[in-house]
Amino acid sequence: MRIPLKDVTPELETAEVIGWVHEIRDLGGLAFYILRDRTGFLQAAVIKKKAPEAVLIAAKEVSRESVVRIKGVVKESDKAPGGREIIPESFEIISKAETPLPLDVSDKVLAEVDTRLDNRYLDARRPKVAAIFQIRNAATHAINDYFYNEGFINITTSKIVAAATEGGTELFPIAYFEKEAFLNQSPQLYKQMMMAAGFEKVYEIGPIFRAEEHNTTRHLNEATSIDVEVSFADHNDVMDLLENVIIAAYENVDKTCSDAIETLGVDFSVPKKGFPKLTYAEAIDIAAVSIEEDIAYGDDLSTSAERAIGEEMGEHYFITDWPTSIKPYYAMPYENEPEICKAFDMMHPRMELSSGAQRIHQHDLLVEQILQKGMSPEGFEFYLKPFKYGMPPHAGWGVGMERLIMTMLDLPNIREAVLFPRDRHRVTP
Ligand code: ATP
Ligand code: MG
Repeated sequence: MRIPLKDVTPELETAEVIGWVHEIRDLGGLAFYILRDRTGFLQAAVIKKKAPEAVLIAAKEVSRESVVRIKGVVKESDKAPGGREIIPESFEIISKAETPLPLDVSDKVLAEVDTRLDNRYLDARRPKVAAIFQIRNAATHAINDYFYNEGFINITTSKIVAAATEGGTELFPIAYFEKEAFLNQSPQLYKQMMMAAGFEKVYEIGPIFRAEEHNTTRHLNEATSIDVEVSFADHNDVMDLLENVIIAAYENVDKTCSDAIETLGVDFSVPKKGFPKLTYAEAIDIAAVSIEEDIAYGDDLSTSAERAIGEEMGEHYFITDWPTSIKPYYAMPYENEPEICKAFDMMHPRMELSSGAQRIHQHDLLVEQILQKGMSPEGFEFYLKPFKYGMPPHAGWGVGMERLIMTMLDLPNIREAVLFPRDRHRVTP
């Protein structure tokens, strides 16, 4: 039976292990082979005078990153990783790696991001990369758990759509038999329709596609969105929910991923409940005194504005009460002041993590807002019809999973938080 490397201890006396050859150190009479699997490292020590002939032949032939099976005696050893080593009695090369490797897995030579992504299967063998995805897994698990425990229904909506969710964002067209269709930019319209369907609390964690031409360190052309919609809730209710979900993700990472955090060497702390709230007007004022370019009420927040406000805030925070003119048509205007709406963004000091709002649930007001944005209601028949037959008031948000992980782990580039990123230039692997 194969034993995970972390479980190999001298108490076992003998063990059979399988792993990748992470490092080879030949000291003449003695050679060390550091084996690696998902769980850790184990040193195999081949003492040339004592080792069986077959072990010597395999040990000489093996290359780094080959997969090997070793059987032998486990002994204590102060200098070896984990304080123990295996002395091979048999050494079998299961799958030999060609040389040279396209990428150094032992981190002695740091490769360019492109080389790493071209060879992601090798790159992901690096403990620092594996740690990111272990943490992403723990965050996803906590989020799913949170929603399940709160009675949310996990939905899956189609990513092939006939129309844009919002004007503005570029869509990827696809050939759909004799029609044109697109890859969906957001499940927004579908989760709202599920409010009409009476599901009350839904969420989806799935892909969103944005054909944005820009190539930045925080945009992907295919991202993962954590999307939520809740009936009988307003913007304040779902901001509270959003804080809880973010904190649940951080807490589970804190609780279950201490090794991965240590591998990454990041400063990790769980954000505190009660994220401060700024109005959009206050945010503009902060940006106006801190950035060089002109910024005025009614403008979108530029990257430099987001950074300046983030520096001032120093923690997660909300920007509320946005001008209705710069938020999507489905955001609910305040009854007494319709120029502003019940939309919010949730920000990490480095960037936007989420946008959300209380939504318009009145059919005629929604049509009016669509027209105001210069769009045509005809394209939205399927979406608008449910608003005529008993649509409850509702609110929701979407969080980018990759941005959540990127900011949680202080990663320099969003591509680090995706296995196979899709950007302006990359569609393989
Ligand atoms: P930004 O202004 O930062 O480009 P956005 O306002 O266009 O983002 P939304 O449409 O509000 O994005 O989407 C909700 C969330 O989904 C964002 O806050 C972000 O976390 C994530 N997201 C959106 N677009 C992308 C993208 N291209 N790459 C990665 N994450 C994205
Ligand atoms: Mg947004």
